[in-house]
Amino acid sequence: MNIILLGPPGAGKGTQARILVDERGMTQLSTGDMLREAKDSGTEMGKKVAEVMARGELVTDEIVIGLIREKLEADPTRGYIFDGFPRTLKQADALAELLDEQGLTLDRVVELRVDDEALVSRITARSTCSTCGEVYNDLTKPIPSDGTCTNCGGTEFKRRADDNEDSLKKRLMEYYKQTSPLVGYYYAKGQYSRTDGMGEIDAVKAGIAEKLDG
Ligand code: AMP
Repeated sequence: MNIILLGPPGAGKGTQARILVDERGMTQLSTGDMLREAKDSGTEMGKKVAEVMARGELVTDEIVIGLIREKLEADPTRGYIFDGFPRTLKQADALAELLDEQGLTLDRVVELRVDDEALVSRITARSTCSTCGEVYNDLTKPIPSDGTCTNCGGTEFKRRADDNEDSLKKRLMEYYKQTSPLVGYYYAKGQYSRTDGMGEIDAVKAGIAEKLDG
């Protein structure tokens, strides 16, 4: 099964994708993670995208489509969770073509619905384990008091450079201008469903499961 998790920054896509990886053996393809890796490795492409990401703008379609193409061509057999991709109609068309080329289908698109006000507090309270990427939140899922990651025992945690209010405003604007049209796009294709992303992590997980298995 190949699925897209759709939703604005801070909706919980990454957290839920990791649960699906653990519990269903699926493979998370996060273009945000791939771009951050490129940025950290200091490649030419990494340098090019770093400033764009820091401003909260979208990286070009060509770059992100290229990243997804590489992954799908390397291993077309997995059950994929597309997390943060596609973000534009052009990317959505490209994904359809790429899947088709590999003989894969898109089984479901699940949008996580979250109030805008909640996103600011979620994002500004967010940190991740530097070793395994487990997501923590100062308010809802704090780093354990002994300072070790519950998933891997790592002791280093980081906050994203673009997880601040200014950048978030831009990221939200980009979401509504460029990504939200995907709701109509996938609805028209009969692949769209949505679930409440405001609840506890387990409740959201159950909502997603209902859409995938129901
Ligand atoms: P994310 O981790 O999904 O919140 O993405 C972080 C940043 O990476 C975004 O604000 C964009 O600058 C960039 N990015 C990630 N995925 C895409 C995409 N599919 N298209 C364009 N830019 C992206």
